[in-house]
This record gives sequence, C-alpha cells and structure tokens, in this order.
Amino acid sequence: MQQPAGRAGAILTIDLGAVRSNYRFLRSKLVSAQCGAAVKADSYGLGAARISEALFEEGCRHFFVAHLEEAIALRPHLPEAASIYVMHGSPVGYEAEFLEHGCIPVLNSCQQILAWRDLAQEKQQELPAIIQLDTGMSRMGMSPTEVQAWLADPGFIDGIQVQYLMSHLACAENQQSPVNQQQLQSFQALRRQLPQSRATLANSSGIFLGPDFHFDLVRPGAALYGLTPVAGEDNPLQPVAHLQGKIIQTREIAAGTGVGYSLTYRSTQVRRIATVAVGYADGWLRSLSNRGTVFIGDTPVPMVGNVSMDTVTLDVSDVALELLYPGALVDLISAKNTADQVAERAGTIGYEILTSLGLRYQRHYIDTPAQPA
Ligand SMILES: *Cc1c(COP(=O)(O)O)cnc(C)c1O
Repeated sequence: MQQPAGRAGAILTIDLGAVRSNYRFLRSKLVSAQCGAAVKADSYGLGAARISEALFEEGCRHFFVAHLEEAIALRPHLPEAASIYVMHGSPVGYEAEFLEHGCIPVLNSCQQILAWRDLAQEKQQELPAIIQLDTGMSRMGMSPTEVQAWLADPGFIDGIQVQYLMSHLACAENQQSPVNQQQLQSFQALRRQLPQSRATLANSSGIFLGPDFHFDLVRPGAALYGLTPVAGEDNPLQPVAHLQGKIIQTREIAAGTGVGYSLTYRSTQVRRIATVAVGYADGWLRSLSNRGTVFIGDTPVPMVGNVSMDTVTLDVSDVALELLYPGALVDLISAKNTADQVAERAGTIGYEILTSLGLRYQRHYIDTPAQPA
C-alpha cells in the first residue's frame, strides 16, 4: 500500500472504496428512509468533490454542506439529480445565488423564511427549502416562539416548497441519553402542528438509535468517513483516512538529553529519535505532545517532546534500523491507529482530527468499483 511520497512531507491516502462501503452499510440500516450525506467542511477534510461523486454513484442524492460557498464549489461535480442543501441557510442578501447555482437553503429562522418567501414572490415561482426546527440543541433552527409565529400566520410559507422539516440531535452518540427521546417527541409534536412534510432528523449516530429516528432521510457524515457512531461500542465502519509522515533524519541521544521546544521530554537512557515532517500546521495537534503513539510497521512508537509547527519527534529506539532512513514512512493515522484513537489521546473527537488535516499533504485517492443500489 506504500505510495511514493514525492516531495511532500506526508501522504494522505483516502479510501473511496471504504466510503462507498460505509454508505452501503448505513443504508442497510434503513427500512424506507433515504440515505443522504453530510459533505460539509470538504467532507470532513477528505475532499467533498471526489467523495460526493463516489456517493452519487452509490445512489446518494441528498448532500449537505454548511456554507453557500461550499455548495457553489460542489455543484459542478454533481448531476442535477443531486440536491445540495446549505445548512446555514442564506447569508443575508445572497438568496438569489441559491437559484443561480441550483442549491437549496435550510431555513433556520423567521428572518430566513421571510427572505426566501420574498424571493419566491419576486420570481413568481415556488422555491424549494428545508425548514429546520430547534428541538433542544439551541443552536440552529426555528425556536418554539418562532414556530408559534408560523402557526399564527397562514401565509407564512407562501411560495416555499418545503422539502423536509429538519432537526438535529444533540446527544445521539450516547444511546443512554434521555435527550434523544425528548428531542424525538418534540420533533414529532411539532410535525403534527405544522403542514404535512417529509422529515429528517438523524446524523450518523442517530441512525443507530433505531428506525423511529430515521423518518424520510438521514444525514450521516462522520460514519461515512469511518468515525465511530456509538460511544463505547465497536466501530462497524471502515477507516477511510490513512496518513503517513516521512522521516527527515534520525539521531542517537545520550541519557539526560532534552527533545523539542521547551525540552518537555528528557531521556533517561540512550535513545534513538526520528524527526518526521508533520506538525501542528498540518493538523497534527500540539495537544498530542508527549502523548501520541504512531506506528512503524507493527511497532508502536511514542511521540516525545512538543509537536512543532512542521515536525514531530518520535522515540524509535525499538524499531529496526533498516526501517529508519530519510524518506521512510511512519503511519500516523491508520487502521491500527484510527482518527478516533488519535483524538482520544489529543483530548478531542475524531471529527476534529479529520477536519484539521492539512493542505501540505500529498493526497491520493484509492477506489473500488461502484455498487449502485
Ligand atoms: C454535521 C451535521 C450532520 C452530520 O453529522 P455526523 O455526526 O457527522 O453524522 C447532520 N446534520 C447536521 C445538521 C449537521 O450539522
């Protein structure tokens, strides 16, 4: 599986075959709901264009991004049959760009709804949208008070063709959390009061809460990219990201020698140190300093010293010398050391590890043939 590293300090290999297989696995959990995809933040750092193209081939037709800008960049990569939804809705004053670029807003407030309704009136045509309701996360969507304003005004959504009512779960990765049922009930109650529409509630973790949470469409992101959807359980998904850093040089240090900025590591005996060309500027988080473990072949290798902007230092004393040449590759993220595991040591979540992945990597995509539904 080793790729030539070329001039870059590290190689990021993205397995589109694994994304496809994860998509099929998630779809197999659904009875009648459709499986969409969250491809915001460049598909969690892995490349929205390539990933969306592969997902479209697998039958995915609903793509979610956060920003209008992301939707505009993605649009040329997807056929018209694909809907691209912008979860932040329109930036104030940019509503018409949604029509120009064939993207659909998620309307999150009275203000966004009124602006979309005005545009529909101006254009004399029905305009599609998703309307998001806040069912307890207090982040995005119409508040209960705003829903009251809707109910009080029969013309509130005139000219808006509501494709889905949407909400988002705050605690879905924790299957024991009572919040999941509370949000589900609140969503169902709101749906009963509002004009009849299709609905979408579940992210990746929400899919694993069972069919009550699936409604008409699910919106997984993390699970497509191999992150674990259920806290505390084995991950049924395939890893997608493989990050290999390149050794620049190695040295032997005597007992009592400090390593890296502020010399936060000091050897207690003779050690061999390898310097690898990946640092916090590449998204290899500084919080991994003296905490991370990476792999050379099957040998776990501890990170020693502070992570620098462009380098990280490893204690490679247990590694065979013939594996320690300049240009040799070290597995930073791999099946043995997943983004979730790296995240745990960095004190964060796998989402942040993936979305932090840097721009200096040489990127490779590997793929397997499509298996459309
Ligand atoms: C990011 C996001 C998703 C996807 O969430 P995952 O946990 O990555 O599956 C779905 N819906 C909304 C509203 C989101 O913001």
